[in-house]
Amino acid sequence: MKTIDDFNFEGKKALIRVDFNVPLDGDFNVTDTSRIDAAKPTILKVLEDGGSAILMSHMGRPKGKANPEMSLSHIVETVSNVVGVQVKFAEDCVGTKAEEAVAALKSGEVLLLENLRFHAEEEAGDESFAEELSKHGDVYVNDAFGTAHRAHASTTIVAKFFPENKCFGYLLAKEIKAIDKVMETGEKPVTAILGGAKVSSKITIIENILDKVDNLIIGGGMTYTFVKAKGGKVGDSICEDDKMELALEILKQAEAKNVKVYLPVDVLAADDFSNTANTQFVEVNEIPDGWQGLDAGPKTLEIFKQVILASKTILWNGPVGVFEMENFAKGTIAVGNYIDEATQGGAFSLVGGGDSVAAVKQFGFQEKVSYVSTGGGAMLESLEGKTLPGIAAILG
Ligand code: AMP
Repeated sequence: MKTIDDFNFEGKKALIRVDFNVPLDGDFNVTDTSRIDAAKPTILKVLEDGGSAILMSHMGRPKGKANPEMSLSHIVETVSNVVGVQVKFAEDCVGTKAEEAVAALKSGEVLLLENLRFHAEEEAGDESFAEELSKHGDVYVNDAFGTAHRAHASTTIVAKFFPENKCFGYLLAKEIKAIDKVMETGEKPVTAILGGAKVSSKITIIENILDKVDNLIIGGGMTYTFVKAKGGKVGDSICEDDKMELALEILKQAEAKNVKVYLPVDVLAADDFSNTANTQFVEVNEIPDGWQGLDAGPKTLEIFKQVILASKTILWNGPVGVFEMENFAKGTIAVGNYIDEATQGGAFSLVGGGDSVAAVKQFGFQEKVSYVSTGGGAMLESLEGKTLPGIAAILG
């Protein structure tokens, strides 16, 4: 795996795909700099070698047309502050404006190109557009995990114009290593905690990880499809009737593969999908009509705790309750605390995929787990066992 450490950038121009799709407020101020912070080590490595950095990114969904609201010019000052160098800006990512700005760039300088998605060719993965981009740099560095599952011009296609001179930036390399640690080289026992709303959105992940894990903890809204399939009464809980057969099939597969599956045994049920609903703890397979399970119960959490604390490698994807409502967030917070404790005891813990990161950030767990993935969709596809085109393009 070629990383940025395999190159010396002295006198070279690094064309770096970053993910600066950061949130802006109504006055176009950056409200969360974490994605910019995450790219900083890669940019600094190039500058410290004596090279220059040309940064390219998308922002929002301008759908192939220039849209001043999604201009990366809004973030120039923030990027300058984070990196510690006054960043220059090119009003387009290809064409004369970009070429002139690139030509004028000196060692130690950073140039940010305008939003790639102002050109429809970016998302179309257009080859001649990718070739135009490739002319900006001597070395192509991909450091954008969040878009690694897209075969876009700047994330994948451009790599073919750098047959030898392409590599992963620090962030992307870290993501790849973290996923590998869970999916391939993790110390046993390996435990996956899968929550979230629906079986249907997690099915490919479940099928893939059955070959990788020793324990599978299932929580959240997915629970009820499994429980009902096994003959339990789930009341008004979220349930995908058309996935019940699949749920039974998963349990069978897990048994055949010697994977222990832990489902909730008790839940906090509510008489409405609301934070102010009446609640009661009930057995998971005896939820009365008119009630729905919205969080894990105390007996369940005790079981989850034992499994998590005995694990050496932990993957967490999806909350075990409706964490957005305070009264149903306790289970998810408890699971986060168990993972924290296991991590302190030496386990490797990875959180990521979909909305998991939102829950982790909301409760301050990002400092406590070993690694929080920066890419929602890219992480999900990795867990599904798919080869991400952006990663394959560097390896190939
Ligand atoms: P996902 O994006 O698939 O990880 O799903 C996350 C969503 O699942 C969150 O918005 C949670 O509120 C929701 N969720 C978790 N547990 C339940 C439940 N018991 N009933 C309904 N929704 C749930």
